Amino acid sequence: MRATEPRRRLVLLSPLAGWSTPLDEIPDPVFAGRMLGDGLAVDPTGATLHAPCDGQIIALPESRHAVTLRSDFGAEILMHVGIDTVGLAGEGFEAHVSLGRRVAAGDPLVTFDLDLIARRAKSLLTPVLVMEGCGLTVLRSSVGREVAAGEFLMEVAPLERAGVPEGPGEEGSGATVEVRRVRVALEHGIHARPAAQIVSALRSLAGQVELAVEGRTANARSTVALMKLGARKGDDIRVRAAGRDAGRAIDAVAAVLTGAHENAVSSARAVPRPPGAGLAATSQLLTAVTSTAVEVRAGAALPGVIASRGLAVGQAVRLRAREIEVTEAGAGVSHESLQLERARAQVRSRLESALSSASGTAREIVEAHLQLLEDPELTEKSLTLISDGASAAYAWRRTIRGSIEALRALGDPRMAERADDLLDLEGQMLLAMSGHPGAAIQLPADAILLAEELLPSQLVGLDAARLAGICLAAGGATSHVSILAAAMGIPALVAVGPGLRQILDGTALLLDADAGLRHVDPGAERLAATRRQLELRAARRAAEREAAQRDCCTADGTRIEVFANVGSLADAHAAVRNGAEGCGLLRTEFLFLERETPPSEAEQHAEYQRLAETLAGKPLTIRTLDVGGDKPIPYLPMPAEENPSLGLRGVRTSLWRPDLLRQQLRAILRVRPRGQCRILLPMITDVAEIRSVRSMAQEACAGIGRQEPIALGVMIETPASALMADALAAEADFFSIGTNDLTQYTLAMDRGHPELAARLDALHPAVLRLIARTAEAAHARGRGVAVCGGLASDPAAAPILIGLGVHELSAVPAVIPRLKALIRRLSLADCAGLARQALEQSSAEAVRALALPLAPRESEPDSVG
Ligand code: PEP
Ligand code: MG
Repeated sequence: MRATEPRRRLVLLSPLAGWSTPLDEIPDPVFAGRMLGDGLAVDPTGATLHAPCDGQIIALPESRHAVTLRSDFGAEILMHVGIDTVGLAGEGFEAHVSLGRRVAAGDPLVTFDLDLIARRAKSLLTPVLVMEGCGLTVLRSSVGREVAAGEFLMEVAPLERAGVPEGPGEEGSGATVEVRRVRVALEHGIHARPAAQIVSALRSLAGQVELAVEGRTANARSTVALMKLGARKGDDIRVRAAGRDAGRAIDAVAAVLTGAHENAVSSARAVPRPPGAGLAATSQLLTAVTSTAVEVRAGAALPGVIASRGLAVGQAVRLRAREIEVTEAGAGVSHESLQLERARAQVRSRLESALSSASGTAREIVEAHLQLLEDPELTEKSLTLISDGASAAYAWRRTIRGSIEALRALGDPRMAERADDLLDLEGQMLLAMSGHPGAAIQLPADAILLAEELLPSQLVGLDAARLAGICLAAGGATSHVSILAAAMGIPALVAVGPGLRQILDGTALLLDADAGLRHVDPGAERLAATRRQLELRAARRAAEREAAQRDCCTADGTRIEVFANVGSLADAHAAVRNGAEGCGLLRTEFLFLERETPPSEAEQHAEYQRLAETLAGKPLTIRTLDVGGDKPIPYLPMPAEENPSLGLRGVRTSLWRPDLLRQQLRAILRVRPRGQCRILLPMITDVAEIRSVRSMAQEACAGIGRQEPIALGVMIETPASALMADALAAEADFFSIGTNDLTQYTLAMDRGHPELAARLDALHPAVLRLIARTAEAAHARGRGVAVCGGLASDPAAAPILIGLGVHELSAVPAVIPRLKALIRRLSLADCAGLARQALEQSSAEAVRALALPLAPRESEPDSVG
């Protein structure tokens, strides 16, 4: 057991097994009123109190019913076994430590007689508090669930007191206060994106930061509060920060306000919502409705704003949004707070799991929702309403709607995007609280969806295979749902106005989202021509799908294996359907996220076995757990990290928790037939990591009586591993290049950074040079080299990767047929020539231009033959 104390945050492990409960439930006003400090209580099922972190015992009364420990960074933690237990005068308590003693997290401190205390004390509830006065606050906690001793209980961080004097200087307890005036240089003031940038820039810095303008103030850690500040270009903002990081915090805020991160998206593309498209028109549950609308003139071609290009022919399906009903009155403060926290945990874990497989736009949207979910202003306001007697659902809705109204009142169309996110989050939370996620909508084939508005989570919930197009009365081209539609390849028009309501359900529609027109009942001839065009494209895709089942060679006979990336059983089925020759990357995170305890060895084994069977004997490459500080899981408390992607990630996490790794290795090694699985290690940087895992795998083999060796490969996804590929090739059985991380670490650009997304191109020559070096080192040792990062799913990259010596591509299942068709038309000599030239280019754009003749875009008629 290990607790960690980073410089500014402290993770406390549960000192007891039991049920963690809000302090409000304690039948004692001193604890419930937080007069002694903040924290939570554990309703114990275990009878030994353990140290929640490393530290020194600074108080242990003779009655031994309470222990206070001072952590190494000064936090004082009080654990008080039961309520009114001082009166027991030590009866039933046995201390294992003495005053002044140093203890490590997990050390037993006091054992007590649970039955005796249950009978004689007022309550068994055991407060675990960070003492008032040490300037700490609880950042997050595991309140409302069962905890084992040693599991994550809460994380605390410095809280700066309100009312500190203005101007630079030191406060009594050593907290620095700084105030600076900064002029907003951002063209559009503090809108959604800069607000989000400020919040994320401050995430790793401690202390209270506040922005003030014209008498209005905002907590700089709340996106919502910052947006509501309504600060415009030229405004003089007073930025005030208190705490050890005050100076850095002000620098970070100033960098955003002065335009260092100026949003590149032009506001000209934002489409103001039509009058009347307010809250009443939007809501949470979508239902298909039978239209009572009046038919519009046949043949009418009505304009709209292009949100996602493309062509679609289909029938109109009207969807209407229905409000989720909530009752205003709550059933008690603790019940409703718990409801809110549970719903939040559920939505958070759903979003986090979506994040693990999302990329690009979808990822940005999920990240925005996650950020809003943790927004302190939303939480505080909801809790205030709950403490005034409201239900959790009512409190959440009222808080969200208040914020939306405030944003819309600013009259800035750019705020509408964040308002939509808020509305989306309202729906997700209310659905979580309602306990039923809402019935899925059955769409007919070739549905062209007509709606007033649509939220991203609603679009994601629809059957994309049946959705031919989208037409919205409101919305903007830059709204998240528009961007998402484009990412999903669904043609979409938005802001088409109230005329949309007049289209009858089932009417034939031609959605020309290239010209920005929707043709209502367009006439037989036009429909037929468009259908022919679409059919040709579909036929080409069908032919590709059929041919996909065959193995794949270049035109001059070089065998290239096309595998699939898999993150669930459904993906494995899709992989087989699309002609994958195996799984080149099983992201096992899906088994570990969204739960309170790690999956057992038996559970993991059953899942891996099922996947192996689904692949019907084809190779299954199982990557060991790749989580870290950016994807926290409750049963794996990690130190807070300033740079999570440079922290405990991938194999580092596994070696930090070898118990979990051993379990996972055994589960993989037990899969039959024995030769089907390979093991892949994420985030390798040196040979020692491979050696450690190999020896653990060997021990595991011996433990389960397995004789057959298993291939152990490494992901090349750090510049270190690419540069050390020759040394790694001596230890590893194969390489798989993770271009997503390799690109982020090579270009020093966060892979989730919205502003950098356009420049984060894995075809950058720097990345290609590392791939070339890796392939060379692999070949010199006779090792296989695959690419399993996103670049393998990009047809434009296939000729270059093959030319660089990559002979296995592991791609998303849907792209496999197209990839195989493309590869069959390539010659190795052409690919090698192209790769040589690509390495000499000076930018990713230049590489892409070079690749075009060998890998034309799909929209070009003869792109895939
Ligand atoms: C990669 O980094 O390219 C990769 C495949 O791993 P992940 O995307 O899961 O980090
Ligand atoms: Mg990776």
